[in-house]
Amino acid sequence: MKPSTSFRQELLGVFGDPVAENPTQAMIEAAFAELGMDWRYLTVEVKPEALGDAVKGARAMNWKGFNCTIPHKVAVVPLLDRLNPAAKIIGAVNCVINRHGELVGDNTDGKGFLQSLAGIHGIRGLRAVILGAGGAARAIAVELGLAHASQITIVNRSRERGEALVRLLGDRTAAASSLVAWEGKYHIPEDTDVVINATPIGLFPDVEARLPVDTESLQPRMIVCDLIPNPPQTRFLRDAAMRGCTVLDGLGMLVNQGVIGIRLWSGREPSSQVMRQALEKALL
Ligand code: NDP
Repeated sequence: MKPSTSFRQELLGVFGDPVAENPTQAMIEAAFAELGMDWRYLTVEVKPEALGDAVKGARAMNWKGFNCTIPHKVAVVPLLDRLNPAAKIIGAVNCVINRHGELVGDNTDGKGFLQSLAGIHGIRGLRAVILGAGGAARAIAVELGLAHASQITIVNRSRERGEALVRLLGDRTAAASSLVAWEGKYHIPEDTDVVINATPIGLFPDVEARLPVDTESLQPRMIVCDLIPNPPQTRFLRDAAMRGCTVLDGLGMLVNQGVIGIRLWSGREPSSQVMRQALEKALL
């Protein structure tokens, strides 16, 4: 008998009603396989009222860590032992790391995006326009501010959420920030370096939905990003490419988040190329 087959102190999990495999699962497990790691990354559905028990279970079962999605990103915060600095400012966690029994919360939404952007443009001194002020916009705006972007303009439909984000940036980062109430078509200021769609407008199945943005105001020198991973080539990105802009899709950000997660959980460096291929296969 193999030494690992101890039949002691074990729970053998049975998922009778399996959650459909999340594309992120396919991407992370492809990276594990390529690295020769005998690890699993499973998708488990947890009802909001059961989150506390689920986190206790993760501790009890000595998980290496986990990701969490909406609606758990804020609710998980008080259940952890500590947060990394950016996650503390953002006030939301999507990646938890087990450091010798201590559960540490991080937020890889903004870091994944910055890694994609830094591949084509420096962040210091950058002038950014962010469309939206939700969870992803908040994570990206904070990381841009901490990385010394000089100007962050938040364009949002509801004033309250936009104001809260601008206040946070003013209090916790050195970037100059301002809010534009989104009414009608937004005209992108000429001196903008990067435009980021952080709204779900254009997300599958509403793939032909158009952002209320004056596409004539997009200049070829601008970098235009869409966080939507599905479809990767959104209507907004296609319009921007037609205007001669450099475009960045949401898949790159998702892949980078996976890369950062694997690094944090295991200290290993996965292949982003293998991960992107697996993600595209799972999504398309
Ligand atoms: P939230 O629900 O937290 O925020 C959504 C934002 O979009 C809000 O600011 C909301 O404005 C705005 N919005 C929604 N509908 C409209 C509309 N019809 N007109 C104008 N504004 C609108 O979502 P998230 O921040 O979590 O996600 C935003 C997008 O980012 C999604 O498409 C998601 O798929 C993507 N994402 C991608 C990731 C990746 O790795 N690629 C990671 C995380 C998110 P208001 O405040 O007025 O309601």
